[in-house]
Amino acid sequence: MKINTELSNTVSPQDFHRKKQLTLFAAYYRPEMKLFALDMSCAFFVALIELSYPMITRYILSEFLPDKQYAKFFVFIVIMLLGFLMRAGLQFVVTYWGHIMGANIEMRMRYDLFTHIQTLSYRFFNSNRTGQLMSRILPELFEITELAHHGPEDLFISFLTLIGAAIALFFISPKLAILVLLLMPFLIVFTMWLRKRMGRASRRVKESTAVINTELESCLSGIRISTAFANEASQANKFQTSSAQYRQARAGFYKIMATFFSGMEFMIGGLGVVAIGYGGYLIMRNEMDVVDLIAFTLYIGIFTTPIRKLTTFTELYQAGMSGFQRFVELMKEVPDIVDDADAIAVSSFDGDIEFMNVSFSYNDEENAENVLENLNLHIRQGRTTAIVGPSGSGKTTLCHLIPRFYDVRSGVISIDGIDVKRYELASLRKNIGIVQQDVFLFAGNIRENIRFGRLSAQDDDVEAAAKQADLHDFIMTLPEGYDTIVGERGVRLSGGQKQRISIARVILKDPSILILDEATSALDNETEKRIQSAIARLSVGRTCVVIAHRLTTIRGADCIVYLDEKGIREQGDHESLMAASGYYYHLYASMLEHRTS
Ligand code: ADP
Ligand code: MG
Repeated sequence: MKINTELSNTVSPQDFHRKKQLTLFAAYYRPEMKLFALDMSCAFFVALIELSYPMITRYILSEFLPDKQYAKFFVFIVIMLLGFLMRAGLQFVVTYWGHIMGANIEMRMRYDLFTHIQTLSYRFFNSNRTGQLMSRILPELFEITELAHHGPEDLFISFLTLIGAAIALFFISPKLAILVLLLMPFLIVFTMWLRKRMGRASRRVKESTAVINTELESCLSGIRISTAFANEASQANKFQTSSAQYRQARAGFYKIMATFFSGMEFMIGGLGVVAIGYGGYLIMRNEMDVVDLIAFTLYIGIFTTPIRKLTTFTELYQAGMSGFQRFVELMKEVPDIVDDADAIAVSSFDGDIEFMNVSFSYNDEENAENVLENLNLHIRQGRTTAIVGPSGSGKTTLCHLIPRFYDVRSGVISIDGIDVKRYELASLRKNIGIVQQDVFLFAGNIRENIRFGRLSAQDDDVEAAAKQADLHDFIMTLPEGYDTIVGERGVRLSGGQKQRISIARVILKDPSILILDEATSALDNETEKRIQSAIARLSVGRTCVVIAHRLTTIRGADCIVYLDEKGIREQGDHESLMAASGYYYHLYASMLEHRTS
């Protein structure tokens, strides 16, 4: 089957605010209508064949058997065999293509969700851990698939067979049919009740699985530390405790499961026995014949499958719908940073940045304290501005406001005299390069990771960037060079090597504005020196905002800004700030002390 990788949304995020849940669910069926029709019509014929089998049996047993009409009898037997062969084929179509349809629906939802999540801002990801998003969404969407496929089909087949079989029962023997139909509600209520308890127990198992998984992960990733502290015994104890809890939850589940299956088999078996008992009584009173009783019990057998299916359906529906609800919730999440209708697209900036009365808080609440309060700052075009100050004073925050990772609470940030909110987000961010302390590498090879800076870059450009970032020689020492796989499943790179990859990315990106947020603070002196010269080459002719701890970086800046919790305390070049012997002077003195000690 060809894999569909077309890039378009099935349902737009706006629709999630306008339409009802069931309408939205139905909308995902629309592109799969052909498969849906195929699935349902095959399911229909499956039910039909199943229903006709006892009737045909009854017919040939009563018509051909007494007269010993061998030929006709066996012709019908062969016809029935062929009928079952056809049913097998139809069943295959239903199971295979039905699930494919469900998987297609799931894929469409996944795509809509991913593209929607991409539009959400940093604020969203601060309160939603990506790992959790992954581990929640994928299994939940899978439950939706199961519902999407089994839901309509199971309901349809079940009702069809139940009604068909009930009619047939009445046709064969009304008295016996009434008896069976009177017993039926007990069976249904009992199985549904147990199913519900089973569902609850299985949720408990799932919950404790999540707990033990975190526990296990923390124990495993902490093994080095626990051995270093010789705390293995207590760790093993802790592990065993949650492991035992998990077993306990499972034991509860198995008990209910055992009750369910044995109880259900008893009810079904009992129903058959009662039918034969009452049927035999009717036969002895000459109110029914043996052949009818045979057909009757065959229908009772058919009865039980839809009942089994319907009892699982409630659970399927609950799981699928709660998954869908969570999906809808995420789709309803409104991106708080979007383009204006008349947003300005720019190809490059001169790079003159101005903060005017900027206040900002991570917290949306009215009276939340601001991280930045009435901040005014001019970052001159083409110059290097260093921001220094104690940790937690808001340096990173300040930098994140420029590419609009967050929007200011009040005040204006402008680039080249125009409010950043007026620019098209994509073009704004294309022209700002950020190098941060922790570098994220995608699963893939080095070349792809560098090319992330500019996806259209040729291999030559990638290599040129790597050379500028002082990375090329190192890459050539790797057996597979630029094709070396990095990250989780590949080569482990040191902090400095990763850092140079991120610098190479920014070199490819070639932005007008460059932000370096403690890009080198985690590195040793030797590596830092090498990166420093790469950065120096990179910053020529660009507006550069540097947050750094190194004296050399700071001292060389055109302007130094001292920021603490109270805001900007001082700004100026190194000489003038030293002469003022204020905050910067003391900071510098303490840094000098550190260096010599
Ligand atoms: P710096 O980079 O100067 O060390 P930050 O800008 O990272 O400081 O942080 C400034 C303040 O904002 C700190 O009090 C920090 O706790 C808070 N802060 C930083 N990031 C977030 C966030 N994502 N959500 C909430 N508060 C944050
Ligand atoms: Mg910071």
